[in-house]
Amino acid sequence: MNGFTNNILPTTNALTIDVEDYFHVEAFSSVVKREDWGNKYPLRVEKNTHRILNILDQHDVKATFFILGWVAEACPNLARAIVAGGHELASHGFAHQHANKQTRETFRQDICRSKQLLEDQSGMRVHGYRAPSFSIGLGNTWAFEELQQAGFSYTSSTYPVKHDIYGTPEWPRFKHLRQEGIIEIPIPTLNVLNRNVPIGGGGYFRLYPYALSRYFIERFRQQTQQPFSFYFHPWEIDPMQPQMHGISIKSRVRHYLNLNRMEARIHRLLSDFQWDTMYNTYQLHGLVSDEKSSNQEDSRQRLSSLGQLR
Ligand SMILES: [Zn+2]
Repeated sequence: MNGFTNNILPTTNALTIDVEDYFHVEAFSSVVKREDWGNKYPLRVEKNTHRILNILDQHDVKATFFILGWVAEACPNLARAIVAGGHELASHGFAHQHANKQTRETFRQDICRSKQLLEDQSGMRVHGYRAPSFSIGLGNTWAFEELQQAGFSYTSSTYPVKHDIYGTPEWPRFKHLRQEGIIEIPIPTLNVLNRNVPIGGGGYFRLYPYALSRYFIERFRQQTQQPFSFYFHPWEIDPMQPQMHGISIKSRVRHYLNLNRMEARIHRLLSDFQWDTMYNTYQLHGLVSDEKSSNQEDSRQRLSSLGQLR
């Protein structure tokens, strides 16, 4: 049982973009001051996101954009442009603060403020949330409760891998209904010799040769009978971005590796697989509390069967 309608694996995979700028990334947080965002470090995210919208149009692909509230505020037409392209608008929080470094109260304010802003700008309901650097773990499961209460229907905020910045290796690997009443869609991993290998995108996608990434995706779909989901950032297709000084060699390698190859790889990825939004790929209609889902009983039944997945 895979939790999908009629137990058939969807043909599409979920394409997601975390809309933030190069100066928002965690690896630079020790050298970049918040007041320098968009000033000392000029904004490039709007242009890069439009480039992505253009690439998606070329392949006739729809995607989910997890936008940072700060970016939506700085670029007030961006959310509307994304929705006008037929894509799904979702939230990446407001100020890219890690959920596990915020108090519960600050987290609540951050997610509510960003959700409201995106809905005001776009006129659309925002269902999805992704925590900066997948920062929901064992120490802050209250975040799921806050997200549910704030009106989010799903999150994609966990990465069941071992990593120095994020990850909870022992957590579920596939879409599941959490006891807090919200659906979580973890970033994909391959289980190799009892270890979860990260294959969901970002830096790993730039690190692995493209053929290996493609093999991982095919294997993931075959092995798990789950759709794949992929994430990347607008700054990853921008090799001309300003170089950051005073950062560690590890951070430098992680951030700048193969940026010049990324755009071509994205084109191949979009040609080699079928893609759609998270909402469509994971068949969240009827599971989420939007106005269109009139059949509440059916919705409850689908939720309870999802809860028995694992
Ligand atoms: Zn992020």
